[in-house]
Amino acid sequence: MKKINMVDLNGQYRKIRWQVNREIKKVINTSSFVNGPIVKEFQNNLQEYLGVKHVIPCANGTDALQIALMALNLERGDEVITTNFSFASTIEVILLLGLKPVVIDIDPRTFNINPDLIKHKISNKTKAIIPVHLFGQSCRMEEILEIANKNNLQVIEDNAQALGSKYKFSNSQKQMSGTIGDIATTSFYPTKNLGCYGDGGAILTNSDNLAYKMRGIVNHGMYERYYHDEIGVNSRLDSIQAAILNVKLKYIDKYNNRRQEAALLYNSAFQNIQQIEVPFIESDSDSHVYHQYTLKIKNGKRDKLVDHLSKKNIPFGIFYPLGFHEQKAYKQDFSSDIDFPVTNKVKNQVISLPMHTELTKKQIKFISNTIISFFE
Ligand SMILES: *Cc1c(COP(=O)(O)O)cnc(C)c1O
Repeated sequence: MKKINMVDLNGQYRKIRWQVNREIKKVINTSSFVNGPIVKEFQNNLQEYLGVKHVIPCANGTDALQIALMALNLERGDEVITTNFSFASTIEVILLLGLKPVVIDIDPRTFNINPDLIKHKISNKTKAIIPVHLFGQSCRMEEILEIANKNNLQVIEDNAQALGSKYKFSNSQKQMSGTIGDIATTSFYPTKNLGCYGDGGAILTNSDNLAYKMRGIVNHGMYERYYHDEIGVNSRLDSIQAAILNVKLKYIDKYNNRRQEAALLYNSAFQNIQQIEVPFIESDSDSHVYHQYTLKIKNGKRDKLVDHLSKKNIPFGIFYPLGFHEQKAYKQDFSSDIDFPVTNKVKNQVISLPMHTELTKKQIKFISNTIISFFE
């Protein structure tokens, strides 16, 4: 059996190697390394794939969040609502911009922000909500949009983990995650569902005004060359990364299907193990693209399982070991942990298993049998 990896970027590359190499060579031959026609081509391809009016490529997913917030004309001390259980980027950029994070506990089934808790946290300073579609599954966007509309809030979807997932509204209409809020952001970090071979990111919007503004912000606040109308940043996607993304975008649905198939195999292997809770699917199967396949271990033995897997050389991830309210960098922004009972419980239950496009049935069987043997 092939060595089991948490992700297998090399195995994936080998199947598209000739195309990727050809496209990289083309960029080098044209020597248009920054903002070349290839970046524009990728922008158009991603717009078409998602069905969104504007894609603004940038340097990474964290910049994308910062630029999105900068475009909203917020004032120091304005409040931004987001989840307590995610990667750091969201709370980090809120704090960097001098805004106030208002952090919400999660839905124990999906690990996503719990919309039922948002309304109690809205004040007259609240200006925006940043839901994160964690592990590949869209948040309950219909409820979030309703709250946002009622309170005149802007919605920025952090879609870094869920590119290609489809959200289903209660009228059965489906829409790509990342095209639902006022703005969305994503990351092309190599291990993301659509990853390049370095850093990359993008901002998405259907608003012409916001798109215009953000195209200026990513480029030093320039709308006309060497005239700086506002303070911006320097955040670019380079042409070699765009060329790689053009190749990989053709396979994104296939890649996500591979992840979904792997998830189904894991699910059925664990179906009789009481102590394991497999990922909960909020609506249809295509609403989850399994950036991570994350189990909850219900009998308090997560850390013992971790030791067991380490001994058997099976990789795993703990996403995330702490809520934001307990992280050293942010905890002074919280008065207590009374608002976060679900995060406090779930952080000790979660374990993410190897999940990527190259997993074989044999590997999945080996991983799940090793886990099942631990519980027997
Ligand atoms: C990866 C990730 C980011 C940050 O993306 P980078 O490209 O690494 O800056 C932001 N939010 C979430 C949820 C992520 O998973």
